[in-house]
Amino acid sequence: MKAFKFLRARTCGEAAQLLAKNADARVHAGGTDLLGRMKERLDTSDVLVSLCDAAGLDQIRVETDGSIWIGARVTLAELAASEACRTFLPTLAEAAGLAASPQLRQRATIAGNLAQQTRCHYFRLATFPCWKRGDDACPVKEAGGVQDTAGIFDGACVSAHPSSVAPVLGSLDAEITVRDAKGPRPVPFDAFWAAPKPGIATDTILGAGDVIEAIRIPPRAAKQYMGYAEVRQKAAFDWALVSCAVRYEIVEGAMHDVRVWFGSVAPAPWRARLAEAALQGGACTDEAAAKAADAALAEARPVAGAAYKEHLARVALRRALADAREGAK
Ligand SMILES: Cc1cc2nc3c(=O)[nH]c(=O)nc-3n(C[C@H](O)[C@H](O)[C@H](O)COP(=O)(O)OP(=O)(O)OC[C@H]3O[C@@H](n4cnc5c(N)ncnc54)[C@H](O)[C@@H]3O)c2cc1C
Repeated sequence: MKAFKFLRARTCGEAAQLLAKNADARVHAGGTDLLGRMKERLDTSDVLVSLCDAAGLDQIRVETDGSIWIGARVTLAELAASEACRTFLPTLAEAAGLAASPQLRQRATIAGNLAQQTRCHYFRLATFPCWKRGDDACPVKEAGGVQDTAGIFDGACVSAHPSSVAPVLGSLDAEITVRDAKGPRPVPFDAFWAAPKPGIATDTILGAGDVIEAIRIPPRAAKQYMGYAEVRQKAAFDWALVSCAVRYEIVEGAMHDVRVWFGSVAPAPWRARLAEAALQGGACTDEAAAKAADAALAEARPVAGAAYKEHLARVALRRALADAREGAK
């Protein structure tokens, strides 16, 4: 691993100022993704700006308007245990509590979880060419490479964004507060993700001087029905093969304001708008779930090794809807 300077920011504003002064610097939070990439020399930054001591970013607050404010360095373990999350955002607590392992959840932060990079084997091993790292070829698409964890939507890059909490935050219409040296700005969750481009490793719109300060979940007047399901190869210490988060309200017996987000199926968390349209205005039944899955998967274009994930996506959507219906959270 290359030597680097480790700068400890005392506030989020100070982190933004330090990033502005160090063009090549990276934000460091729990380090569970970043340091692994640095060990593999996939990232050779000279400076890390750490949020480990940044004041206030470890808090979860229910604001007076009912919105929920989650600081960038709240860990997955804290999310899973938080009374506010378990009461008002149970799917977020559930997804955070399922991710990785207990040790990792003690370090891994919510902001780092969103900004983590794909686990595509070809991206992670510098000995392979990778379109995302600037090479011409993608071994998965062009040279007979095998990638059973590949995405099934958005064919430009077959990588899959691995975050478990991201689809839940999408379903909750989360807003991300991003700060740079000029100040904070709100970014809607939909707009936080960048289309894959050759040679661009990141999957987000975060620029060199940007730091995530917080995630805000808007208040809701009506009762919310929320569900989350993920399918994994093994129960612990692993990434989901496919995850799905849903949220809706019931108006006169029918689903309204429906959100359906998948994880681990595309380079960014995937909003299944066609599934949302199929569910909107109907009852939450298994038949409706099957039709919504057909609608969502009409857009799938998997590589051969990942075609089985279409079935997993159907299962995850059906389970997430059943979870929402039965739990009536
Ligand atoms: C064995 C293993 C299993 C795992 N299983 C799962 C799983 O099931 N589900 C899941 O979701 N994840 C899983 N993960 C991933 C893990 O959750 C992430 O590595 C972790 O959430 C990243 O958070 P961090 O605080 O450690 O980020 P870091 O490693 O510190 O940073 C990750 C990236 O985010 C950027 N970053 C961090 N904070 C900010 C900020 N505030 N503003 C801007 N950029 C920022 C960093 O610059 C870096 O690029 C697993 C990881 C491992 C090693």
